[in-house]
Amino acid sequence: MLGSVESERWGRLVGGHLALDFVNTDIVSEHDRSEDVLRSADEFVAWCVYAAVPGAVSTVPTGGADDVLADALSLREALRASMRAIAAGETPKERDLATVQAMYARALGSATMSISGGVLSWRWAPGSPAILVWEIAVQSVDLLRGGSIDRIKACPACGFVFIDATKNRSRRWCSMDDCGKQEKIRRYVTKRAQAR
Ligand SMILES: [Zn+2]
Repeated sequence: MLGSVESERWGRLVGGHLALDFVNTDIVSEHDRSEDVLRSADEFVAWCVYAAVPGAVSTVPTGGADDVLADALSLREALRASMRAIAAGETPKERDLATVQAMYARALGSATMSISGGVLSWRWAPGSPAILVWEIAVQSVDLLRGGSIDRIKACPACGFVFIDATKNRSRRWCSMDDCGKQEKIRRYVTKRAQAR
């Protein structure tokens, strides 16, 4: 079960928001990994624990959770296409937004609304990994409605999406330790070659 995937090296959480970190688990399309990091419902739950998705710790995957994985992957695909479009200054496709909306509607339909400490939250009965998909769907819509939509960017080197929280909106890379550093090295090498 979860023990078998605990050693999996997940991608870094550089998105600055759960929805974007979730999108960034789709590294097959543009990166050098040949296999998805979310290959089973167990792996999806393990990633949620790693990413500290609310409810992830107490959630135990049960048999027949394949539909949860299918829902998670279709939500991720729709979110990924939408976030990449937004980052590129384009309008997301209606079809993708409809997928997100449908998951959001299902999430709210099964939730109990509560307000605590001045914060509204949606709670679900624990026990099913489906609540993790719902949590991601709700947080995704919160992100898109929260006024930070114009801060969603995509790393030009690896395609990861992230929130640019800098004051002057100058963040360019998913991470300075990774793609930012690679670019610095590339520029340095080019400069040296030109100086010869
Ligand atoms: Zn990057």
